[in-house]
Amino acid sequence: MHELTLMQSVLQTVEQDAAQHGINRINKVKLVIGQLTMALPDSLIFAFEALKPGTMFSDASLIIEERHAQCTCHSCQQEYKLDDYFQFVCPTCGSTDIEVEGGKELYIDYYEGD
Ligand SMILES: [Zn+2]
Repeated sequence: MHELTLMQSVLQTVEQDAAQHGINRINKVKLVIGQLTMALPDSLIFAFEALKPGTMFSDASLIIEERHAQCTCHSCQQEYKLDDYFQFVCPTCGSTDIEVEGGKELYIDYYEGD
């Protein structure tokens, strides 16, 4: 399961960083996830809940911000946000000559702890 592996590495990264800053307990972790990463927020939350008991994350909450990809049509210059159905077709002119930007973000925005 992709999200479980992903969440394991997120927790590991936070853990290492927290250790360097003398932080023993994590209260909050915020992730930014681009829609093109195909990581499902529900699955990430599920993985987080499954992994956190007995760790420094046991009382932590997870916040996920989803970023949509931005599309630009080369035919009519229309700009639009990629929807959840991944339609790489211009909603204005029907062209498939689309440039896609963003949506591949996948990083820890911040975490809080003490
Ligand atoms: Zn167009």
